[in-house]
Amino acid sequence: AAALAMAEQVVAELRVRCETPPSMLREVAVEMAREMGAGLEKDGGSRVKMLLSYVDKLPTGREEGLFYGLDLGGTNFRVLKVQLGGNAKHVVDRDSREVGIPPHLMSGSSSELFGFIASELAKFVDDDEKCANISNGKKREIGFTFSFPVKQRSVASGTLVKWTKAFSINDAVGEDVVAELQTAMEKQGLDMHVAALINDAVGTLAGARYYDKDVVAGVIFGTGTNAAYVEKANAIPKWEGELPHSGDMKKNDFAVLQVINMEWGNFFSSHLPITEYDQELDKESLNPGEQIYEKLTSGMYLGEIVRRVLLKISLQSAIFGDIDHTKLQTHFLLRTPHISAMHHDETSDLKIVAENFEENLEITGTSLEARKLVVEICDIVATRAARLAAAGLAGILMKIGRDHSVEDQRSVIAIDGGLFEHYTKFRRCLETTLGELLGDEASKAVAIKHADDGSGIGAALIAASQSQYK
Ligand code: ADP
Ligand code: MG
Repeated sequence: AAALAMAEQVVAELRVRCETPPSMLREVAVEMAREMGAGLEKDGGSRVKMLLSYVDKLPTGREEGLFYGLDLGGTNFRVLKVQLGGNAKHVVDRDSREVGIPPHLMSGSSSELFGFIASELAKFVDDDEKCANISNGKKREIGFTFSFPVKQRSVASGTLVKWTKAFSINDAVGEDVVAELQTAMEKQGLDMHVAALINDAVGTLAGARYYDKDVVAGVIFGTGTNAAYVEKANAIPKWEGELPHSGDMKKNDFAVLQVINMEWGNFFSSHLPITEYDQELDKESLNPGEQIYEKLTSGMYLGEIVRRVLLKISLQSAIFGDIDHTKLQTHFLLRTPHISAMHHDETSDLKIVAENFEENLEITGTSLEARKLVVEICDIVATRAARLAAAGLAGILMKIGRDHSVEDQRSVIAIDGGLFEHYTKFRRCLETTLGELLGDEASKAVAIKHADDGSGIGAALIAASQSQYK
């Protein structure tokens, strides 16, 4: 009983420290909008990099032909192809394959990683060649979704700024990732042209906008988190120097658009509710001090935060009995899908929590009271994540003037990523919190849409809209 009381005390404190009242979330949204402006002002103007994507036209539905996509996120890697029908027939045929990234490649050398990607692509294209006739002298074109911060100079080139999530390959930083992919493809004897380099948020935006012109932003809550949105050229002072000054491409021309890759995972605000667990997680991470918003809101980290809380409770109060802590002390052993499963456990005796404890942590014989506390911890961590995520979305809407209702104007935010897709309570909480922040009137004109596999398709679509054969 004393153990339980001690553990309850720790959880009560956690709940207080993770509180996200609407007033705090509004501050976070305002700061997100402000940081967006500062990042657009000049390079280095904000922790939120607001990178130009060089995507200035989004697919319209008129594109035609066979296009490929590659999607390197944080956990999985996908190759895909789409047959576009043109004339608003959209995607008439598609095929894709998903491959796990062998963990050792996440911290090896750049040529090993790109060699692996190119060889998986070669296998996919080979199979495909057997049953379709392509070519007629044209090179196949491919869009590459590479979801790490990249400094671009054109739509089809860009140098890696830094790794995030679980990646850390030193010799790739500062290199042009398209050139590396192109070299690796040549080694595989693959004659393909990389027509576009984008990230998953840009891809999600493009993929969703292909079907719905009211889509204003693409957002990812997966292994990591990021957002992209459509900005007017005259709101991007740092772009000025690079814009061609001839013809109709004038900076103050409202028709000139640019998709901005926010890299919002690196957002930080003193208003963020950061606990001792978050601080320790950050300190021991691959990128201390960086990606703080991502560390609070994305799939790679939520399970790890919960693990840290459980460890503290168990060491302090022995609430799980006299157990061996080896497993519970292993970083990243408890993963977000596990906490999602426990959080959604609706059995009266919390059977799923018990199973997860046995299978993942090798902790048996937990009491029902202890299991209830586990669910509560998952709830606290996931709720904070979802509410902060909603505040970020509100920040974007604020920045583009869509946070208040204007007649006949609809704004759609397309969201993808495994966390959003599979963690139902996260997703629901995100949606209700956004409604809370916008108020009834403005919420009516804002919709959140799940963009299924937008990021991979989006790359192929942008490759099509940028095609050199048009
Ligand atoms: P990426 O493209 O960055 O590799 P994904 O969009 O495929 O990421 O999402 C993978 C992430 O989604 C995982 O790291 C995990 O955190 C989260 N995820 C996957 N399945 C679930 C689940 N059932 N419940 C909660 N989170 C999940
Ligand atoms: Mg992805």
